[in-house]
Amino acid sequence: MEELKKTKIKCSDPTHYRDKNCCGEEFEISEAVYIEKYWYESTSGNFYKYEDSAEIICPKCGARNRIYSREELKKLKHYFKEIKKEDA
Ligand SMILES: [Zn+2]
Repeated sequence: MEELKKTKIKCSDPTHYRDKNCCGEEFEISEAVYIEKYWYESTSGNFYKYEDSAEIICPKCGARNRIYSREELKKLKHYFKEIKKEDA
């Protein structure tokens, strides 16, 4: 489904949790880096790994857009330019 790569996202993070402001420009997901965030917990010798909210880096301004409220974008992650993994 090549056309899914052309899915457009607007650079806008309503939470503004980063210092950098989002530019508000639109871009295609094939241009952007998708970051999967994980956090870890170890309890009684057992080690657990959890998926946290993901982020998308805007290719135009470099701002990070959190996508925790956009489940549909998580399904499209393989159409992004690159997937990176980070600790939350
Ligand atoms: Zn931007």
